[in-house]
Amino acid sequence: MKPRNKLYEISNKFLSELYPDRCAVCDAIIDAGNCVCADCNEQFPRKPEIFRLGKATCYSVCEYNEENKKIVFGAKDGRDFYKLCFMATEIHELLKYYGVISEIEAIIPVPAYFLKRLKRGFNHTEKMTRHLSYLSGIDTVKAVRKIKEAAEQKALNRTDRMKNSEGSYVVRERNRIRNKTVLLIDDVSTTGSTLKEISRLLQKDGNKVICAVFAKTPYKGNKE
Ligand SMILES: [Zn+2]
Repeated sequence: MKPRNKLYEISNKFLSELYPDRCAVCDAIIDAGNCVCADCNEQFPRKPEIFRLGKATCYSVCEYNEENKKIVFGAKDGRDFYKLCFMATEIHELLKYYGVISEIEAIIPVPAYFLKRLKRGFNHTEKMTRHLSYLSGIDTVKAVRKIKEAAEQKALNRTDRMKNSEGSYVVRERNRIRNKTVLLIDDVSTTGSTLKEISRLLQKDGNKVICAVFAKTPYKGNKE
């Protein structure tokens, strides 16, 4: 195990002494080191999907519905490590199942705008990515930066959302992330516009982009 992974493990152990581990789905107290109880693990409504966004292949674990929203919101606003851990673990299992994890050279989190990050104190997607790095041994590289906060996406239709994402992101680790196979991670994808835009930027430098999200609303993606 790499030394920094050891450090990550120790800091998590310390946190779990202070806060007992809880199930990411039902919030019951469970044995330390787990992120979901046995019942929820068995019954969790996984609905894996593979779809395309431009030239990128995307994987999603489950549907973004009222139940799964609670997990995502807890991870986002409640700083619940066990929810982030669950989301990362599910993505890792899915990518392992489809045999794609072995080809990935770097994991890249979808960035948050710095004001949002400042307000929240952390970027939950980045934390999720760090856990995925811990599970897979593949480095997280914060290679993309969000340079402008686009208009509120919720109010826009799909075409406008696509346009809205353009020019919001820049690639900043272009020496490290060039001609690589990279995994782009987000918690939720609602239209695919963010993933599509960032993938397009990374592909410009010869990278092969694979995307993965925990939950996805039922848009179709495109077929190429
Ligand atoms: Zn449970």
